[in-house]
Amino acid sequence: MRLPHSLHWRISLAYTVLIIVTMGAVSFYLVDFVRDAFLMDLRGRLQREASLVAESASGIVGTAPDGRRLQLMADDLADIIDARVTIVGIDGAVLADSSEQSGRSQNLRRREEIRQALAVGVGGALRRDQTSGEEIIYSAVAIRRGGEIVAVARVGVSTADLQSNVNRLVTTISISALLVTALSVGLGYVLFRRTSRSVQLVAEGARRLAAGDLEFRVHASSSDETRDLADAFNSMANTIRSVVGDLSSERNKLTAVLDTMADGVVVLEADGKVSLMNRAAELLLDVGASETVGNRLVEVVRDYEIQQTVQKSIETGRIWQVEVELLPSRTFLSAIATPLGAVDGTTEASGVLLTLHDLTRMMQVETTRKEFVSNVSHELRNPLASIKAMVDTLEDGAIEERSVAVDFLRRISGDVDRMNGIVNDLLELSHLEGGFAPLHLSPVDLRHLVEEVLEKFRNSSGAEGLEFLADLPDTLSTVTGESGKLRQVLVNLVENAIRHTAEGKITISILDEGRFQKVRVADTGTGIPREHLPHVFERFYKVDRSRSDGGTGLGLAIVKHIVQAHGGEVGVESEEGVGSTFEFTIPRS
Ligand code: ADP
Repeated sequence: MRLPHSLHWRISLAYTVLIIVTMGAVSFYLVDFVRDAFLMDLRGRLQREASLVAESASGIVGTAPDGRRLQLMADDLADIIDARVTIVGIDGAVLADSSEQSGRSQNLRRREEIRQALAVGVGGALRRDQTSGEEIIYSAVAIRRGGEIVAVARVGVSTADLQSNVNRLVTTISISALLVTALSVGLGYVLFRRTSRSVQLVAEGARRLAAGDLEFRVHASSSDETRDLADAFNSMANTIRSVVGDLSSERNKLTAVLDTMADGVVVLEADGKVSLMNRAAELLLDVGASETVGNRLVEVVRDYEIQQTVQKSIETGRIWQVEVELLPSRTFLSAIATPLGAVDGTTEASGVLLTLHDLTRMMQVETTRKEFVSNVSHELRNPLASIKAMVDTLEDGAIEERSVAVDFLRRISGDVDRMNGIVNDLLELSHLEGGFAPLHLSPVDLRHLVEEVLEKFRNSSGAEGLEFLADLPDTLSTVTGESGKLRQVLVNLVENAIRHTAEGKITISILDEGRFQKVRVADTGTGIPREHLPHVFERFYKVDRSRSDGGTGLGLAIVKHIVQAHGGEVGVESEEGVGSTFEFTIPRS
């Protein structure tokens, strides 16, 4: 049979066995003790009665007609004391006996109580009667006359009454023992059950705590040690909750810091598995959050150089750095692998902190700077070379030929004007980009401005064959801007349109667009190939570099900066051979 494993059952079982054994031993001892006491009491009574019989018989034993008198006395006394009375001669012969069954012919000299009485004056014995089979207790006292033992008086009673008394006592004790046992076991069961319930509650609490339920508390119903256990558990749960709270708030802070950082942070374990990756790192490495934590770095970062840098850092316990370009995103990164938990150069790291710094913007700025210098040099080199050539030619004698000299000087002046234009445009751009010249804002009537600009170009040379149109709504509110700058934007756009439209129409329209007004300058000129459209607002960008149309490539960049300084946006739509439409928005006042 398999015993139940629970503590409650084990304690209950041990307790029950203990109670049963204890009650059994106590009952056994008690019954034995009481029986002995009864026997002793009976022996004392019998001895006193035997002495009485002996005293009564001492005058009768040994006289002639004594046989009958002695028998009568034995019968009388037997009735009074309710016992068997026997008078035995010193030779063991029965002189009188109140019991009729026993034979008179029997010699009792060898009986233990008789032998003792003849030897020391008193005797006693307990034995089973051979004829009736009853257990009899005897007490014998010597009958003396003149100091001489003349016979022995014996009194005997069956122990049946005593046995029935003892049996009654055994029954009473057994029932009491059973009751006490049942009560104790029942009470013990209830107590153990309550205790084990409290222990089970704490165990359940520990399970819930382990499962993440930090709010679970144990309610102790009793006020004993189980309450102490419950209190100890609850205070432990409070401590755990507060520690977990502190930890998670620290973790939240760390996560917030990591997630708002511009630099990528990746924490790797020594086996190369990613244990933490912030949002910036996910963006820089172009990986989703689900495919990072728990995966190996080689599965997350395809770049061999970064993997090698991390590996070297783990193996040497030193900081390693590398600059890489990730493809196809063309992201430039500086990756620094710092060993975690390593004594410098002596042991292998227990992990690596990989920080990723995005160099793309810096590289772009650097590239732009180089391009800018090369563009400026290129733009200035041509007119300078041309001026130098013409001056050399003049020095070599051409100055003597007046018509040639005048032509050269006119061309030199044109080149100088172009260079001047470039320098002015660059200064303008630099002012706009640096924000050195804040705008003087005031309400500007765009319709008035557009009409004024169109009027200027209608009458200008180089605009022959072009029709200038305005598409303006009747009611127009003013915009907030610097009218001089807005005029410059319009002039730039119309000049471009004129330059790229041999004949056709140039239309300026104004539209209401929410809190902005949108101005569109549309032409029916050459148009711009689609692939150039995203770049036309960049500095020095020219769609057709081979064409020398007098432009610097800075006009649209200046337009964009002026519009953005006003809080607006620029845009372009174009189709080759159909025409282009440039537009910009300015906030309404
Ligand atoms: P540029 O001073 O050389 O005109 P811009 O910055 O004003 O420089 O213009 C950049 C390039 O955009 C020009 O080289 C030109 O090819 C193209 N572009 C500008 N406006 C138009 C237009 N209205 N039609 C066609 N191409 C244009």
